[in-house]
Amino acid sequence: MEPLIPDTIAKRVQSILTKIRLAEEKAGRPAGTVRLVAATKTVTVEHIAEGVRAGLCMLGENRVQEALPKIAAFTEAPVQWHFIGQLQRRKVRSVIGRFDLIHSVDTVDLAQEINRRAEEAGCRQNVLLEVNIGGEPTKAGFHPDDVVRSVPMMAQFSHMCIKGLMTIPPPTTGQDSARPHFRKLYELARQIAALNLPTVEMDELSMGMSNDFDVAIEEGATLVRVGTAIFGARHV
Ligand SMILES: *Cc1c(COP(=O)(O)O)cnc(C)c1O
Repeated sequence: MEPLIPDTIAKRVQSILTKIRLAEEKAGRPAGTVRLVAATKTVTVEHIAEGVRAGLCMLGENRVQEALPKIAAFTEAPVQWHFIGQLQRRKVRSVIGRFDLIHSVDTVDLAQEINRRAEEAGCRQNVLLEVNIGGEPTKAGFHPDDVVRSVPMMAQFSHMCIKGLMTIPPPTTGQDSARPHFRKLYELARQIAALNLPTVEMDELSMGMSNDFDVAIEEGATLVRVGTAIFGARHV
């Protein structure tokens, strides 16, 4: 791996943003439909700052303890924070009001706790429902067969807005092996949108990472979560 000099981060950000624009164009989607969420787990504040100077404006963190000091370091910067990791019930209170979007609501129970804490805080929390699109036994997320059934119950949580779906497909062998999973997430979102529920919008599809974000864009992603391709391989 090349050394992580700041110049490299800036160049990689520009290169990813260009690839996103090209993928939008190839898919016949309007420019700006897809936004880049930089996955910043294990990345230092200095390296994140270099990325922000190069044009990153959405940052995704996986762990509450790691995220809070980073958020505090960027209060002056025009950035949004997204929570993309598995969220424990007891950590919900710490994330409400600090993250513009939680990508990883994986149970009705967690949704209920988010709603309760958002009500306490007097705000409305934007979330995505995470779908275990490959139905993998050890992976978090709603089973594809359950998510459509579970949405009407969660639509009653008035301090939460369900903006769409998120997925991490099964480990893939080649770029195109993720495509059917992305397509399935898109179709699930259309099914849920057709229910016409209040507080459920289905405008966002968070899918695609460093290796396959261009394929995800062709299949309808609106948010791509990219870490390694910007900041280099993680060593921890
Ligand atoms: C780390 C992470 C990513 C980014 O993965 P890369 O392969 O490094 O681009 C995306 N989504 C989630 C949920 C992550 O934890």
